[in-house]
This record gives sequence, C-alpha cells and structure tokens, in this order.
Amino acid sequence: MPDPATGQTPAKLAPPSPLVGVLRVCALYPDLMNIYADRGNLIVLERRCAWRGIGFQLSSSGLGERLDGDAHDLFYIGGGQDRDQRLCAQDLVATKRDGLEAAAARGAVVLGVCGGYQLLGRSYTLPLRGRSGEEEIPGVGLLDVHTVREDGPRLIGNVAIEVSLDEDGPRVLAGFENHGGRTYLGAGQQPLGRVLKGHGNDGHSGMEGARSANTIGTYLHGPLLPKNVWFADWLIARALGLQAGALAPLEDAIERETHLSARRAAGV
Ligand code: GLN
Repeated sequence: MPDPATGQTPAKLAPPSPLVGVLRVCALYPDLMNIYADRGNLIVLERRCAWRGIGFQLSSSGLGERLDGDAHDLFYIGGGQDRDQRLCAQDLVATKRDGLEAAAARGAVVLGVCGGYQLLGRSYTLPLRGRSGEEEIPGVGLLDVHTVREDGPRLIGNVAIEVSLDEDGPRVLAGFENHGGRTYLGAGQQPLGRVLKGHGNDGHSGMEGARSANTIGTYLHGPLLPKNVWFADWLIARALGLQAGALAPLEDAIERETHLSARRAAGV
C-alpha cells in the first residue's frame, strides 16, 4: 500500500533468492497485436522478475522477422483487430511457425491472448471484406482449435474461469473478453478452464481458452496478468523450468485486491 506520508509505494523486494537467472521474453507483433493494453502483461512479468532479482530480457519479433525458438523462454502474442490479424497470420506461418513449434516442443511458454489465441490455433474464418463469402486466415496450429466469425453479437464482458494448472487444485482467472470469433476445440484439445461467468470460447460450451502443455490461449484481457498475478508467477516459473512454489513470495496486497475486484466485476 502507498505510504500515507509520502504517497510512495514501498519497493517490494523479495527475500534474497537462490534463483539466479534471466527470463527471456519475446513479444510477437507488439505494435499490431496490442489492444487492451497487452503491454501491461509484459510489464507485470518484468516487475515480478525484477522484484525477485531475476533478470528480464524483452525482445520483439515483427513482420518479416524470423524467430529463433531457442532464444526465448516465453513468447507472448496479444489481441488484435481482424485487419491486423490478417497481416500477422500469413507472416506468423511463413516466418515464425518453425521457431514457435520448436520452442513449444522444448517446453518454452507460449501465451496467446484473444486474437493471439486465435492465431495459435489452426485457422480463423471470417467474412470477406466488402464482398460476400468468407476467407480463412491460417494459424500456426500449436493449439487444436479453430475460430469462426459467425453471425451474432460480439462476446463482450467481464469473465471468470476456473483453471487447474497443477496438482494445487482449482484457481480462478478473472478478466474481460471482447471477441467476434467463436473458438471450437478439436476432439483431444484441453481447454484452459471452465467458465464461471462470461462467454468463454463460444458462448455456450462452458469452456474457455485452450492449453497444450506450456502453450496457452485465452480470451481473457484485462490485461490478464495484472488482474491475476498468481498466473504471471506460474508462467514465469514454467518458463524458467521451476515449480511455481519455487519463486519467492511477494507482498501482493494491492495485487490481491485487484484480483478480487476483477472477480467481483464478473460476479464471482
Ligand atoms: N479480432 C478478433 C475477434 O474479434 C480478436 C479480438 C481481440 O483480440 N480482442 O474475434
């Protein structure tokens, strides 16, 4: 909490940690796939590493840039307008799919939010611009999902889901969703979680997001990580090859209140 005398928030340094390392994060198309303040997700990762004395390197990969799957521990792709997704999708498949596949196969974390989630799937089908008919935007297929822009309203609102990531038992992620696409899971694809409140993948299945090992897609904006710092820690730990409990605890009073406020907004 801010110090009433100074108005400053005290630095929250974790106890000295035996962990020495660097989290290497790569943001994909940070200029195009960046609505709903996706940058806030990256800042949370950076801060929570810094507070623990863990190094943090942020790089980006944009249109036309090849991706070195070995050079990063965590890949992030945020939300986007359909127009920008069209631009990125071809490029993602052409210049980054191999690197991303290799990274996911060796256990790197790949996190896609909303439009980014859709692009981690197999395809996104939407009406052609200014003409009748539809087009299919390719995805990289790291998640066995496909997305269709169907008739019907955008799926908008506060959302809360229950996720079981480890043996620790179920936890709640809370956020905000705003998507025209409906996402359908392949037969063997695990969702990220179960919808408690909100629309989720398609508005009726009760499922939200998708997860295959350390590759995760979700419709939760918010941004996602400031509202759910426990999940940020889970991602950091996974990306560094650690158990979540291995990270030093932080003084998280404001973050806990932020999480509860997001849950209350969703009615959970
Ligand atoms: N353009 C996509 C859709 O409307 C994703 C939107 C988003 O990232 N918020 O479904």
